[in-house]
Amino acid sequence: MKKGIHPDYKKATVKCACGETFEVESTKDEILVEVCSKCHPFYTNQQSRKTHTGRVDKFNKKYGLKQNEAA
Ligand SMILES: [Zn+2]
Repeated sequence: MKKGIHPDYKKATVKCACGETFEVESTKDEILVEVCSKCHPFYTNQQSRKTHTGRVDKFNKKYGLKQNEAA
């Protein structure tokens, strides 16, 4: 590699919406992602991930409400 033209790589913590964190090499300190290999439907074989990222679902879950009751 040529000196002086490449950015500094350092350990970056990747944080996923599902709570998973892992380290990668990056020029950034922290990377926030919505989906990772732990929760992506392709790897989990789940069809839907709406309960995973949906703010409404999160709220309803927090207060013990079901979707139709909250409306
Ligand atoms: Zn994830």
